[in-house]
Amino acid sequence: MVKAERVCKSYGSVEVLKGIDLEVNSGEVFCIVGPSGSGKSTFLRCINHLEKINAGRLYVDGTLVGYREKGGKLYELRDREVAAQRRDIGMVFQRFNLFPHMTAVENVMEAPVQVKRVPKAEARKRAGELLDRVGLADKRDNYPAQLSGGQQQRVAIARALAMDPKLMLFDEPTSALDPELVGEVLDVMKALAQDGMTMIVVTHEMGFAREVGDSLVFMDGGVVVESGNPRDVLTDPQHERTKLFLSKVL
Ligand code: ADP
Ligand code: MG
Repeated sequence: MVKAERVCKSYGSVEVLKGIDLEVNSGEVFCIVGPSGSGKSTFLRCINHLEKINAGRLYVDGTLVGYREKGGKLYELRDREVAAQRRDIGMVFQRFNLFPHMTAVENVMEAPVQVKRVPKAEARKRAGELLDRVGLADKRDNYPAQLSGGQQQRVAIARALAMDPKLMLFDEPTSALDPELVGEVLDVMKALAQDGMTMIVVTHEMGFAREVGDSLVFMDGGVVVESGNPRDVLTDPQHERTKLFLSKVL
């Protein structure tokens, strides 16, 4: 579903991603862990067209992200083509980013109506089903300010799902939550994984990575230091940098 080949990203002279190689299979829960500043968010942002890579190749579902290759040369895609690629990717951020002036159901139906031109009644019905799926059927008419952080984050997940993505990106989705609200969000993500969604999850929740993850990479300083089965990497890390990081977070 995702393939990165020597992906590099710099901001000016600062190299943030220094040749990322990885592969995410369809239906897999792929966890990314690593210290702050290691490039985890930047990598997700490159997948979702929020940043452009400077070198290497990045593919989603077999298609080059942001570029077209012709005669060995790369050409940037047009805005419309980028928008079409982005539509298939859902992203959930640390901060929930809901529209504050819209109710839960309005938040979830917004993109299908605006972007896909789905009729409002149909979009509203589907949004209700998605809110039910994340356990919030009774909160559909609440505004974000009337919801807890965990509930807001579940609305954000439902909102991403409303576009029927083939890939979901999660960037520390529980880091901004009070501890007692983390579980309800992880449970929704776990259910999504069990339904077969392909997910890339940047997280510090090692319990989730161990229990739900199919693969895990440890990133540090813009490179993948170590990768493998989450149980193996978390129990028996091979590299000093991984050991040091895990000794701080576990
Ligand atoms: P992580 O998510 O692992 O904490 P990030 O991908 O957010 O790391 O950031 C990696 C590095 O890139 C950091 O040193 C950060 O300061 C730098 N960085 C991120 N975004 C920008 C930007 N827009 N301009 C300049 N530097 C940036
Ligand atoms: Mg980050």
